[in-house]
Amino acid sequence: MQHRFIPDLDAEELARIQLKGLQWTVQHAFAGCPAYREKFEAAGLAPGDVQSLDDLTRLPLTSVEDLRAGYPLPLLSVPEEQVVRIHASSGTTGKRKVLAYTQADIDAWKVMMARCYELAGLTTLDRVQVCVGYGLWTAGAGFQLGCEHFGAMALPIGPGNMEIQMQLLTDLGTTCLCSTASMALLLGEEVEKYGLRDRLRLKACIFGAEPHSPKMRARFEQMLGIKHSFDISGMTELYGPGAGLECAAHEGIHYWADYYILEILDPETLTPVAPGEVGEMVVTTLCKQAAPLIRYRTRDLTRLLPGECSCGVGMPRHDKILGRSDDMIIFRGVNIYPGQIAAVLEKFADLSSEYQIQLTRKEGKDHLLLKVERREGAQAGGDADLAGKVGAVLHKALMARPVVEIVDPLTLPRTFGKTKRTVDERYE
Ligand code: ADP
Ligand code: ZN
Repeated sequence: MQHRFIPDLDAEELARIQLKGLQWTVQHAFAGCPAYREKFEAAGLAPGDVQSLDDLTRLPLTSVEDLRAGYPLPLLSVPEEQVVRIHASSGTTGKRKVLAYTQADIDAWKVMMARCYELAGLTTLDRVQVCVGYGLWTAGAGFQLGCEHFGAMALPIGPGNMEIQMQLLTDLGTTCLCSTASMALLLGEEVEKYGLRDRLRLKACIFGAEPHSPKMRARFEQMLGIKHSFDISGMTELYGPGAGLECAAHEGIHYWADYYILEILDPETLTPVAPGEVGEMVVTTLCKQAAPLIRYRTRDLTRLLPGECSCGVGMPRHDKILGRSDDMIIFRGVNIYPGQIAAVLEKFADLSSEYQIQLTRKEGKDHLLLKVERREGAQAGGDADLAGKVGAVLHKALMARPVVEIVDPLTLPRTFGKTKRTVDERYE
């Protein structure tokens, strides 16, 4: 298929672009950013040492600590007069990250985002309701920028404002929603509550910014009456949303490998995992000017998906983002990821997708209470029995014993942004 924004590159062309971009980036960072230069020099490297793509692994890693050290404008590699904008991360884990952009960075970002709309099958006649945060965050700005560049109609509402959301959904006949998975769920619940589904013209939802479970996704797809939803990846450090998108074959996320190189490393040994194994995403940008990333540890976990995708798009793929290493809970000496809990809940038809983990400390001992919503329509009479069964499966899966409580549907907190699944009150 002929695409307007997604290039059709063979492996050789892609490798050529990547090597050129890598060499440019290293040169640029060395010349413009003292922090990078120090790192290279400490490792005994000069920019000319990058002769092939294999040399990437010789370069020092960059991490969130480097961003903190360079706060408020970390890794700045251009003179300030070239900076046209800043954005900051939502600060989910710790201090906000502030990142600078040149005009060329904004232009690169808009192309990446336009590719996402293209891959989601949109046309210039689509009406795109942007239900993510505007302002300092990258989310609203990125979806808006890409939508206009792509040529569809942007409906810039931002998160929240349920009344306006419903009004535009019905009056303007929105065809595509852009939101977090949590916000998509909320929108679906609102549509359900007011019986609006038959008045919608939605065909797609582009959702991201947080992990989702298949159950959560199936639920909002059904409530919104859409055939396809598309998981979008991205982070502030790497421009913002739009680093990649799932295609209509739903076989993973195609990422824009001509804009950045993705390595998957073992977070302990910092060496590449075996092909197809889960590890930490480490990214190197190829043309980012204001704040280039060289082997930046994202702390996000996923795996590369080998082989070609049945959709025909040649861009490489990774699996959905399974979680972030920061999300790990240590409970009575056992490491637990919320995603592991979500995976267990998937198996129980009478549970909804929504759960919350509460950690407390009593008499010197940690306690984990898992609250899970019963599926709408399921009988409350079986709660105790169900809680027991879920607890038993969790015990096996996690090697830890949480207390499970089944709660009524729609009673756990909802959010317009990223859902906070873990409430840790142990050290307060
Ligand atoms: P933060 O949440 O760290 O403040 P951002 O607002 O820039 O920073 O959000 C980027 C982060 O959101 C990513 O590093 C990743 O952990 C998470 N994220 C983004 N997209 C997805 C997605 N599609 N699935 C799961 N997690 C995602
Ligand atoms: Zn595909």
